[in-house]
Amino acid sequence: MVASGIVPIISFSGFLEGDDTQKRETALELLNACKDVGFLMLRDFESVMPKGKVTEAFAKTKQFFDLPFEVKDRLEWECPESNRGYVRQGRERVTQATSAEEIAKLRAQAPDYKETMEIGKDYKEGAFDSPFENRWPDAEQPDFKPFMNDFFATCHRLHLEIMRALALAMDLGEHFFDDKVNQQAHNLRLLNYPSIEREKIEGGGNRAGSHTDYGTVTLLFQDMVGGLEVQDKEGNFVPAKPVPDTVVVNIGDLLQRWSNDVLSSTKHRVVLPHDLAESMTPRRNSIAFFSNPNLHQLISCLPNTGGAKYEPVETEAYLVKRLGETFPSVPLTAPRADDLATSRKRQNI
Ligand code: CA
Repeated sequence: MVASGIVPIISFSGFLEGDDTQKRETALELLNACKDVGFLMLRDFESVMPKGKVTEAFAKTKQFFDLPFEVKDRLEWECPESNRGYVRQGRERVTQATSAEEIAKLRAQAPDYKETMEIGKDYKEGAFDSPFENRWPDAEQPDFKPFMNDFFATCHRLHLEIMRALALAMDLGEHFFDDKVNQQAHNLRLLNYPSIEREKIEGGGNRAGSHTDYGTVTLLFQDMVGGLEVQDKEGNFVPAKPVPDTVVVNIGDLLQRWSNDVLSSTKHRVVLPHDLAESMTPRRNSIAFFSNPNLHQLISCLPNTGGAKYEPVETEAYLVKRLGETFPSVPLTAPRADDLATSRKRQNI
């Protein structure tokens, strides 16, 4: 099998464009990768997401992070319930640690060298009500909002096809997940790892510490700088070198739980390139799409997976708890219903 490190490279065209046999074969390939490694690199998905769209997403991402800090700071991320807006370097510390004290200690030792822009579904015109709005640099980068809303929709379609392939291969019926993810409670994250002096990061600073993802599946578009490492069964981190025209797909904790541990949410991290002599590390951009079930979807272990290992949990309660742990300065609890009502009124939605 073709692979990058331990991550298999799989063509999606058999599922997207093939006959029933090809469709099932590709779906099984995907399922096996998600069971064994929890990661795969998907290629040949242009019928859903054309190449040009990914190229443009990277260009728009670079333009955004090149805006002055005073502009980006006006768009600051506010709370895990919204999970939208700009996050300065060092604020989030992705980790498996769960106490606020432990996380504060880790953050002081080795800050994550990055800035991000978090984008959610733009619900204004949609069927689902939400008090939360995206934060856009309308004056400075007017084409950012329409492009990113379209890119979000395209990522949703690609993620939906992946969920359909998994559902088909698990004998749940291809459309099992369709009405459980249609709220599009996903998070599109643009990332910028600035070029920094290598000296400053001696002592093992990583671009993103070892972690698992929270939701169902993550789509990761990387540039050619690379740095992603995926943990193997022995606990070693194995580099997954970027492969042109592929998207990295990995399983998150909530889908592992939903699948009763049939699918694997695997630890991974982003390291600085070791093999370059320059005193400055190269800038890296990546774009991640973290997909989630509908917020009030009850996650109970799927049929055909044996005796349930987990209690049912509601998506929103689970995600807000996980996000509250990595952004410890904000409250862990969801807003009360009356807070939501006030906020709705204020924002007129
Ligand atoms: Ca990740």
